[in-house]
Amino acid sequence: MPKEYPNVPTGLKNPLLEDIQFVQARIAQLKQRTKRFYYSVLLGKYNCPKCSGGLTMTDKSQCLCSCGNIFDPTLAFQKSTCCGAQLVRRTFHYACSRCKKTNPSRFIFDERIFDGEYFSRMMKASRAKKLKKKAEMTKLLMESRSGELPLLQQPCLESIPGLVQDLDCFVGADEGKTDDLGFDSGFEMEDYRSHILTALGCGSRLFSSINYVSQDPREDRVWRFVTLIFMQHEQEIDLTQYDNDLLIERI
Ligand SMILES: [Zn+2]
Ligand SMILES: [Zn+2]
Repeated sequence: MPKEYPNVPTGLKNPLLEDIQFVQARIAQLKQRTKRFYYSVLLGKYNCPKCSGGLTMTDKSQCLCSCGNIFDPTLAFQKSTCCGAQLVRRTFHYACSRCKKTNPSRFIFDERIFDGEYFSRMMKASRAKKLKKKAEMTKLLMESRSGELPLLQQPCLESIPGLVQDLDCFVGADEGKTDDLGFDSGFEMEDYRSHILTALGCGSRLFSSINYVSQDPREDRVWRFVTLIFMQHEQEIDLTQYDNDLLIERI
């Protein structure tokens, strides 16, 4: 009967790794026992400042007496080694209250102190700072916006000298009968569109299976393709490529 390893991926069958979880669990157990023993020996030397009762460690930097007194044993029982002064708790360590030098705590076993309150305060401050920055950025962007443009009359293209000619030139309206592709520009997209829609009906067709409109097959392919792109843009059809062909579907 094979052993069950809940945290080990099934693909992990290396026999050297199979028992590692049990070794790790044993080490953690040993560490826990050693820690308990260490604290029982250490706290055996001290008594509760309120009732002189025995103490037990309940958390990091926290011990408890049966009278209900909960306190930090490092602050209560340990003095700084440098000046013999009271210690103060910092974010990650204890320091001498007189010369500020770091003093390791006897009451911390193999771990750092972690000031949860400090980190929650820092996180809160960081979030507030982020929000403030965002609000400032929004305000800055609002202020840099251009004013409203009231359109009180129809725009007149002729009011800007040469604009109409430039626009015509840009869209190629003044070009002769032959376009950039070298075809006769007798192209009527609407003819192609209705031809494609008729061919499609309510279903789908392959690009190659649609009959020609023009006499020139090469020209026809180009115009059919251009028309399809426009139709896709208008969301009349959907195009999907299959190898060297296109599947055209009504939307
Ligand atoms: Zn007590
Ligand atoms: Zn000191």
